[in-house]
Amino acid sequence: MSTDTRSTDMDRDQGNGRDAGDGEGRDEGGADERYDAVVVGGGAAGLSAALVLGRSRRRTLVVDAGEPRNAPTAHMQGVLSRDGTSPADYLAAGRREIAAYGVEWRAGRVTGAAPDGRDGFTVSLADGTAVGARRLVVTTGLVDELPEIDGVAERWGRDVLHCPYCHGWEVRDRPFGVIAHPVMPAHQALMVSHWSKDVTLFLHTAGELSARDAALLDAAGVRVVTGEVAGLAVEDDALTGVRLADGRFVSRSVVFVGATRLAARDGVLRQLGAELRATPFGEFVAVDETGRTSVPGVWAAGNVTGPQEQVVNAVSRGYRAGAAINGELLLGDLEAAVAGRPTG
Ligand SMILES: Cc1cc2nc3c(=O)[nH]c(=O)nc-3n(C[C@H](O)[C@H](O)[C@H](O)COP(=O)(O)OP(=O)(O)OC[C@H]3O[C@@H](n4cnc5c(N)ncnc54)[C@H](O)[C@@H]3O)c2cc1C
Repeated sequence: MSTDTRSTDMDRDQGNGRDAGDGEGRDEGGADERYDAVVVGGGAAGLSAALVLGRSRRRTLVVDAGEPRNAPTAHMQGVLSRDGTSPADYLAAGRREIAAYGVEWRAGRVTGAAPDGRDGFTVSLADGTAVGARRLVVTTGLVDELPEIDGVAERWGRDVLHCPYCHGWEVRDRPFGVIAHPVMPAHQALMVSHWSKDVTLFLHTAGELSARDAALLDAAGVRVVTGEVAGLAVEDDALTGVRLADGRFVSRSVVFVGATRLAARDGVLRQLGAELRATPFGEFVAVDETGRTSVPGVWAAGNVTGPQEQVVNAVSRGYRAGAAINGELLLGDLEAAVAGRPTG
């Protein structure tokens, strides 16, 4: 990016070309500042929304608690042109890009949001401050609640993996173990059998396999081991195998396991009364294709809307939300001007 597009202190003082009337002054709800948009969560989805909003000359704040879902992993895969980049480097690049358009960034946690009575919201932060927002984008992600098996949390994102699209290529042809998910016991083993022909499925606490699952696993060449898993064995900072409760040991260098629950970090959305939808993975906020929730003025994007949003999808959804917000503000202000109503 050429330096002449970067904002300077003087740009910021002069509003960086934004509508100076919007977002200035103390908010009626007690907020110190009022933004066109506040983005709650600064991962892939939030940064992407912020980039569009900044480039749309919208006064935008990103508040981020700094716990992106893929933080435990060293390399982010499957992101075109950034394949293999570390998640931390990727997000740092995103923060530099949004700063170039005057978007503000605050490390912190949003604890709640409430309507401010003037077509916007008062957003409360854990440090006791509050800011005003005409529109909100919630991109707070989700938490993978892992099965309580000794070693799983410690090795998560390293040699305990969940997603073949994220990691399968890097561990291809190695001896895989898969710890069966109680709801879909065969699914993950069938998927990963495409990346290695040496796959052992540990039924752990899952019940008996259906005849169809057993046939599919057999066709995929997956061995099935019954009995509860006690833990993972690790030597020299590398996984060496799976220990069973009855004392058996099966040598493996990679283990795939699904989260027992994918818990959307949707506290702010629930507080605002956003509609949820039931999915096979649990409840997630209902959004339209632009990310608009059932609460007027509130958008959501990324993993808070569903577990299948990989980084590229999260970026795409964040982009759509940012563009939709700008469009709504723009047309809404013009409508208000025509009707002689105040804007912002
Ligand atoms: C181990 C692992 C490896 C993965 N590898 C890959 C991969 O290789 N390629 C790929 O495409 N995908 C990968 N993923 C999936 C990837 O993590 C997600 O696609 C991506 O993180 C979704 O982005 P997001 O912006 O929705 O959420 P996140 O990246 O989780 O960002 C949400 C942000 O919001 C912040 N936040 C939460 N609550 C609040 C609050 N109340 N106030 C302020 N901030 C808040 C969080 O701290 C976090 O920084 C992996 C996931 C895991 C678990």
